[in-house]
Amino acid sequence: MNRNDYLKNIPKVDRILKEHSIQALCDAFGRGLVTEAVRYELANLRSLICAGKEEEIDRALRDFMIELPEKIREFSAFSLRKVVNATGIILHTNLGRAPLGKVQMDAVMQVMAGYSNLEYDLSTGTRGKRTEHCSSWITRVVGCEHAAVVNNNAAAVTLMLSALSKDKEVIVSRGELIEIGGKFRIPDVMKQSGACLREVGTTNRTRISDYEKAITENTGAIMKVHTSNYKIMGFTEEASVEELAELGARYHLPVIVDLGSGVLINLEKFGLTHEPTVQEMLKKGADLVCFSGDKLLGGPQAGIIAGKRKYIEKMENHPLMRTFRPDKCTIAALAATFREYLEEDRAIKNIPVLSMLSRSPYELKEQAETLSSLLQHGNFPACLSVEESITRMGGGSLPGEELPGYAVTISPISMSCEKMAAKMRKMPTPVVAHIKDNLIWMEMRTIPENEVAQLSQDLIRFFA
Ligand SMILES: *Cc1c(COP(=O)(O)O)cnc(C)c1O
Repeated sequence: MNRNDYLKNIPKVDRILKEHSIQALCDAFGRGLVTEAVRYELANLRSLICAGKEEEIDRALRDFMIELPEKIREFSAFSLRKVVNATGIILHTNLGRAPLGKVQMDAVMQVMAGYSNLEYDLSTGTRGKRTEHCSSWITRVVGCEHAAVVNNNAAAVTLMLSALSKDKEVIVSRGELIEIGGKFRIPDVMKQSGACLREVGTTNRTRISDYEKAITENTGAIMKVHTSNYKIMGFTEEASVEELAELGARYHLPVIVDLGSGVLINLEKFGLTHEPTVQEMLKKGADLVCFSGDKLLGGPQAGIIAGKRKYIEKMENHPLMRTFRPDKCTIAALAATFREYLEEDRAIKNIPVLSMLSRSPYELKEQAETLSSLLQHGNFPACLSVEESITRMGGGSLPGEELPGYAVTISPISMSCEKMAAKMRKMPTPVVAHIKDNLIWMEMRTIPENEVAQLSQDLIRFFA
């Protein structure tokens, strides 16, 4: 057949929609969506006829109606959906960073479905402020005068610089001019905010005297950026927050700290090296500290600014505040997150980032053994083994820090690791895992214990 004859053989949309199997899908997803999906698949078929090989075209035409229902189902699925994070990386930026727990989700559900007093003061019956729902919890937990919340920490940095130092110089050490990825580079953010970067010191050593020498009548602030995603080691020196605070006080300049990953508890209890906490920074005299909501804090995507009231009020009255203001779901989840921190043990239990961080290798080993034996009993087509492993925090947090864990390794019997890993990503709930040493590693740290049974069933069914 020539291509024109093939094109004439393509079924018509109206006729397809009358098919029994397609009718059922119309009832489930709506006729509009199904029509759209059918048109999309017909267009694919036409392109194949115009460009493909004859045997491919024959096969596609023959199987078109058989494969169509499944393709319509795929078409109807949201592209953003739940996945199983089997990478072991707790703050995986590509997998949505911090997951929320029940306590946090309950708070979100309460305000999402109906109306709320988002900007309404119930005691006076007049207009209220949206970020006040969070600020009292934040100030209590970290110990500061006031706090503001914006959409993310990048916005927090931009707002601080714009509100406090527009057209003025901000002094930053050359060792702290970081890029955190996604085009966020301190010098560029500085430019956007209208502040002028005044670099001091060198990459590896910056002294307090370097800062002092750079102060002029045009200085707007002193800024310290926590190098949260890399480490400078060896012959190094940096000015401490105490020294900077003393200098700032002497010259009446605000000292601002971009802490990146807002840690509120001592990480040494998880066997990790000490990471400066928000409370420590404030205690040491920082005027403002900003940090992410969805890194080590374990809350929703947000940027939190904590510190002196007079500076934060300037930000609250800045026009950019309206641009950066968080939505009600963020506010509800963040308030719930901070409330848990009033009792550390509760935070560790109820905030998933912390509970995952606190899981012991012993626990992870047991979980790996459970998953491995469930898969084995279900005749999962692979050689399985339980192995010790090392994972990282991710999300530009705790660079170089190793988390000891356990994984189930998979060596597929009848396909390559790449092929099986690709198929795992096509499961109804996709599973994302790493390949190393010609094995697929399913890391246990980021797979919740109560999802193991379901995961094993899904894997067995999908690869049967
Ligand atoms: C992650 C990070 C940011 C950006 O935070 P987002 O919440 O991702 O916008 C800014 N500064 C530092 C030091 C960071 O680590």
